Amino acid sequence: MASYDPWGAVLDRLDDAAKLIGLDPDVHRMLRTPRRVLEVAVPVRMDDGRVEVFIGWRIHHDTTRGPAKGGIRFHPDVDARQVAALAAGMTLKTAVVDIPFGGSKGGVRCDPERLSSDELERVTRRYTLEVSPLLGPDLDIPVPDVNTDGRVMAWLMDTLSMVRGESLPASVTGKPLSLGGTRGHTGATSSGVLACARAVFAELEMPFTGARAVLQGYGKVGGPLAFLLASAGMRVVAVSDVGGAVHNPGGLDAAALADHAAHGGTVAGFDGADDITPDNIWDIDCELAVPAALEGAIDEHVAQRMGAKVVVEAANGPTTPGADPILDRRDIVVVPDILANAGGVTASYFEWAQSRQGYAWDEGLVATRLRTRMDDAFIAVWAKAEALGISLRRAAFVVAVERVAEAISARGLFP
Ligand code: NAD
Repeated sequence: MASYDPWGAVLDRLDDAAKLIGLDPDVHRMLRTPRRVLEVAVPVRMDDGRVEVFIGWRIHHDTTRGPAKGGIRFHPDVDARQVAALAAGMTLKTAVVDIPFGGSKGGVRCDPERLSSDELERVTRRYTLEVSPLLGPDLDIPVPDVNTDGRVMAWLMDTLSMVRGESLPASVTGKPLSLGGTRGHTGATSSGVLACARAVFAELEMPFTGARAVLQGYGKVGGPLAFLLASAGMRVVAVSDVGGAVHNPGGLDAAALADHAAHGGTVAGFDGADDITPDNIWDIDCELAVPAALEGAIDEHVAQRMGAKVVVEAANGPTTPGADPILDRRDIVVVPDILANAGGVTASYFEWAQSRQGYAWDEGLVATRLRTRMDDAFIAVWAKAEALGISLRRAAFVVAVERVAEAISARGLFP
């Protein structure tokens, strides 16, 4: 996992899609190069009085189909190649669900667990100021990612609004409802993962009710997802997070697990299950595995011992390129990240549209439109996979690259 290169993985998969469809080499070169890369120093006065200098990035991968859209991650492992890979993933994801955005991503290399709330706010505000030339409702719209949330988005929106001297609610999504956040944003990624899981089980003629699921990651995506899968009739038999993992072959009580994790900060030690080594969740014999943590979790070793029949990728880039052919050979069907976790960006699009309209939709409308977008995207990718006789991942890349290429060709090259 240490040697995993997320940008290299994106390029490999892009090259593969380009070859499959005979992509125009000019377009191919454009997609292999991020449009803008901004690296910034983020000097912050810490609570003890000294100044710490963090490094941050904001990267636009492609903005042909619309303003850039992508999350902001605060994590000690953030670097330019990771942010570029995540930005490219956003270009492809927004194209797969056919929403009018390009792709971007940002991050600050820091450990939020070691920052006080005041320090976190100062990091957010200074980072926002430093990357502000790239941000705005028609330029690039951030959203939460790993270790960032609605509170961080509110600070970001406030900072940008102060700098520009106007209220800019459409400059971020995933913001609190009090600032124009959308109903249904929390949990939208998890709802999209559920929609994909249902769709792929239906196509494979596998019963959904009673099927067993394992879940890596119990954060903003994994937490609600455990609940949604259980509510949809699945047996969630194991869940892991950074603090440990728990297993109960009879199925975990999702509500009790949520209570336990809310109090203890981790799923480990849940008394409705046995503690297991986190890495062992992949070995468990089950129908569905959902990686919902960080990149590179399913490498070649994990792929060889994967106990699930279907993998639905809630996380971004959880499967390494080396693992893909092994999963294919073992007939394990993978619904790729750029399709499976696109529910979040779709809800963000709805939030952005509402902020620009100055008119809030009701939650039912958000949920219905989300489900329709996800189902349409799944159908398009499934049909492409069938037509070309390829995996869902390769098909999702092909669908996305075709849409971006069509837009590049329609716009032409400036000047
Ligand atoms: P989060 O920070 O809320 O949660 C991450 C979870 O992963 C936590 O439970 C953490 O304990 C766990 N984790 C970290 N390292 C782990 C390890 N080594 N083993 C097991 N668990 C580990 O982040 P999130 O928003 O839930 O995002 C999770 C993934 O989903 C990321 O890849 C993110 O890019 C992707 N994603 C998130 C959204 C969204 O709406 N939040 C949308 C699309 C994609």
